[in-house]
Amino acid sequence: MSSSKYAEPFRIKSVEMLKETTPEYRRKVLEGVGYNLFKVKADDIYIDCLTDSGTSAMSDRQWAALMTGDESYVGNRCFYDYEKAIQDLFGFQYVIPTHQGRAAEQLLARMLYPKRPQAKYVLANMAFDSTRAAAIIHGVTAIDLLEPAGYDTIHEHPFKGNLSTEKLEAFIQEHGVDSIAWVQMIVTCNSNGGQPVSMANIKACGEIAHKYGLAYIADCARCFENAYFIKEREPGYQDKTIREICLEMFSYFDYAFMSIKKDGLVNMGGFFCCREQSMYDVAWVDNMNYEGHATYGGLAGRDLAAIAVGLYEGSDYRYLKGRIGQVQYLGERLDEFGVPYVRPVGGNGVYIDARKFYPDIAPEHFPGLCLAADLYLKEGIRVSELGASAFSYKDDKGVIHYPEIDLVRIAISRRVYTNSHMDLIAETLGELFKSGSPNFKGMDKSDWYGATTHFTSSYTPMFK
Ligand SMILES: *Cc1c(COP(=O)(O)O)cnc(C)c1O
Repeated sequence: MSSSKYAEPFRIKSVEMLKETTPEYRRKVLEGVGYNLFKVKADDIYIDCLTDSGTSAMSDRQWAALMTGDESYVGNRCFYDYEKAIQDLFGFQYVIPTHQGRAAEQLLARMLYPKRPQAKYVLANMAFDSTRAAAIIHGVTAIDLLEPAGYDTIHEHPFKGNLSTEKLEAFIQEHGVDSIAWVQMIVTCNSNGGQPVSMANIKACGEIAHKYGLAYIADCARCFENAYFIKEREPGYQDKTIREICLEMFSYFDYAFMSIKKDGLVNMGGFFCCREQSMYDVAWVDNMNYEGHATYGGLAGRDLAAIAVGLYEGSDYRYLKGRIGQVQYLGERLDEFGVPYVRPVGGNGVYIDARKFYPDIAPEHFPGLCLAADLYLKEGIRVSELGASAFSYKDDKGVIHYPEIDLVRIAISRRVYTNSHMDLIAETLGELFKSGSPNFKGMDKSDWYGATTHFTSSYTPMFK
């Protein structure tokens, strides 16, 4: 296997030393936090793969732009650069800044849900947590209508984020159009592994939504990674630029909102955008109450300046090739050890199938959490469990429900780690896969509060 084709497209001019800790130290840390990695201080981590949100390394140009930040209360120059970048790359005329994605999403929810008072459902390929949360506040349930391929962890498929057009039509027919708030497409689809949506699917679902008079909304935290996959995998797009692909993608949507903390290569930021002045005027006033004046929206002038640069860098083909190449490199290294993961790898990380990884640990004893703890104990690597710990709950009758699969996400931060860090992750996983858990027979949990409490729960390990 040749790793040179994955050479990083940048060099490094500012470095941050990582703290080295011993296995004994890490064991004490884990005991102290009830084996919950969400409660470990970042200083005690060697390679942090908990999330790719807000963790990007900024470029020299972004740091230079920070120094030009205009901190005027209204009408600051950086806002106009930010607005122009979004108009230029996304094709929407009206842009409202917010401090992060969920603030834009809540703004949209406050504007649109009251217009559809009978709505009970919002339809999506696979809704992200913040979409579910925003819907619940308005008494609405998010429904996932992913194509069956999207739930298959074994077989390769180029566009596992696709929303099933058959399921979409059938749901609207069965429940009636009035019961539906709108149709939302998440590009890439975060919840099933950062999997892309094809242009054909984006277009087809928009046509169905509009046929029934429903709004069509893009939740586009990782739209540049999605555009890269379209260029690589969908016939007819090989010769188009990422910007051209983005402009076509967004031409099918009525509204879009973005957590710029992902593909925008910044540590904080979001936007909402639309095409009509009337919608913009409402958003302008509403956002003022939550995020502040519409020329800063919860962000400093310097943040807006870094975003204006970051959006162009994040949509640069060479950058994307290196970025997604690094994730693919990790996948190829894992193949050498036969490690089971969701195929193909998505844009923002590799998702390990924990039940196949640790077949001796029963699903009710948290195989994913055991793997996460082993990775931390062995090398100080932090990953997030997306399985029994994140999604199981106790119902009113005291019955505990477990999810269908246990995944462990190795999220890769943008421009932060090198391929030798990927080697360390792959080799550590390879050893654990071969040996089985060196530490645990499983874990138990006693603090069930009904809802998901994986940020705060404590676990009791069953040691080998
Ligand atoms: C991160 C994310 C959000 C929420 O954005 P925040 O910036 O974390 O508030 C919404 N949708 C998707 C698909 C995301 O990945």
